[in-house]
Amino acid sequence: MNPPIQHDPALSALFEAQRAASRKDGVVPWAIRADRLKRLSTLVRDNRSAIAAAINDDFGQRSFHETELLEINHVLDGIGHSLQHGRSWMKTTQRSPGYKYWPGQASILPQPLGVVGVVVPWNYPLELSLGPANSAMVAGNRIMIKLSELTPRFGALLAELVARRFDADELCIVNGGVDAGRAFCGLPFDHLLFTGSTAVGHQVMQAASDNLTPVTLELGGKSPAIFGMQAGPGGDYDKAVMRLMIGKTLNAGQTCIAPDYAFIPRGQLDRFIGAARRAIGQFYPSLATTPDYTSIINNRHFARLQALVDDAVQRGAQAWPLSDAASEPARRRFAPVALSSVAAGSTVLEQEIFGPVLPLVEYDDIEEVIAAINARPRPLALYLFESDRKVIARVLGGTLSGGVTINDVFFHVGPDNLPFGGVGASGMGAYHGETGFRTFTHDKPVFRQPTFSLLSWVYPPYGRRAERL
Ligand code: NAD
Repeated sequence: MNPPIQHDPALSALFEAQRAASRKDGVVPWAIRADRLKRLSTLVRDNRSAIAAAINDDFGQRSFHETELLEINHVLDGIGHSLQHGRSWMKTTQRSPGYKYWPGQASILPQPLGVVGVVVPWNYPLELSLGPANSAMVAGNRIMIKLSELTPRFGALLAELVARRFDADELCIVNGGVDAGRAFCGLPFDHLLFTGSTAVGHQVMQAASDNLTPVTLELGGKSPAIFGMQAGPGGDYDKAVMRLMIGKTLNAGQTCIAPDYAFIPRGQLDRFIGAARRAIGQFYPSLATTPDYTSIINNRHFARLQALVDDAVQRGAQAWPLSDAASEPARRRFAPVALSSVAAGSTVLEQEIFGPVLPLVEYDDIEEVIAAINARPRPLALYLFESDRKVIARVLGGTLSGGVTINDVFFHVGPDNLPFGGVGASGMGAYHGETGFRTFTHDKPVFRQPTFSLLSWVYPPYGRRAERL
């Protein structure tokens, strides 16, 4: 049972102001939507270094390049895509009603839902706040964003930047921890998008259900990577391992779509570990000094990762350090490590890892792998490194995950023309591009009846006429 929600009068006042404004909005003309999107884009563009610096301070060290690539550029691309296509997405479309409804006219009028709430985790604070905001904004909604307590410097900066460019009833930022999150999710939003852990996702959905607020849940879980018997684009095995390892070490593995664990064909352990060590050596020639390797967000998560490795080793797993440098707890730099012979039931095979620890599971037959994946909750992402088309087709058809990238990692999340979301325990609903517009829009069916209506023919008294329709 969730404890009762503590209502926050200031938060409720913000919400009421947004709701009152949204109820006067109507369809929201394109010029207003475009103006808001441009202000959002300028906010990011004009403050890229301040944003990267704030996120860096929150992490202790966050690679500036990764913030640019995975957050700033991705958000700007998404807003650009909305500006390019939003006007056509919001057009009324005519539909054929069918001969029984002749000569009436049918159409779909896309309308904003009203006030959208967005709850954000700490791992990509810009991308996961302004990405959903972009989708809700192109759809003409008012937006409230609740940021994570683990990114306080970014939270303070974004609140200030938003307040300078937006009225509070257009877009506003709420900072705070679990209590603020619970109060936030208790507001009667017209739609709530939550990105975070599956455990908290349960609570968010419960709170939303009290208000019949529809939810989009972007959750986590254990995303598998599969090395096929013929792994490697063009037979280049090292390249395949390198691509997998970048997925495990970008943001130090603190990525919802990071490959959590990997299946490798039995007998390939030494080959895999050798290639993984070469990849890490190439990415981070000196792990201790490189500015490209991100720190773990806080001491609790650092200790959690160490405990996952210790638990596996105590149960008989072998740990394979992948870099020459050891972890540095004081700076929360966790050295990448692979684990083999991990006993079933080890915590590292049960919980989402969210760090640079890679358990390897050896297999003999691809059917074993498919069965093992299907025995678990549906993953957010699945990665398959394989050249054999039949195996690719078998894995694609035989498993269900939020998304898939073949022979690389992460790429299915990049293009704005693809929906992004989970399935089953990894989430519900999706956004990005036009899918995001639809998520935050009500497609209202409209039927226009002319003077003459064929249906007046079936008014009572019925006799036997209705039977002929
Ligand atoms: P979290 O679930 O602990 O917190 C997410 C947000 O919810 C934070 O703002 C937090 O303050 C708030 N919150 C916490 N308890 C709450 C409650 N009871 N009611 C309402 N709000 C509450 O997640 P996290 O640790 O910040 O992020 C890591 C998790 O997020 C991982 O599981 C990761 O896989 C997942 N994630 C998913 C995606 C995706 O797009 N699917 C993206 C990034 C992260």
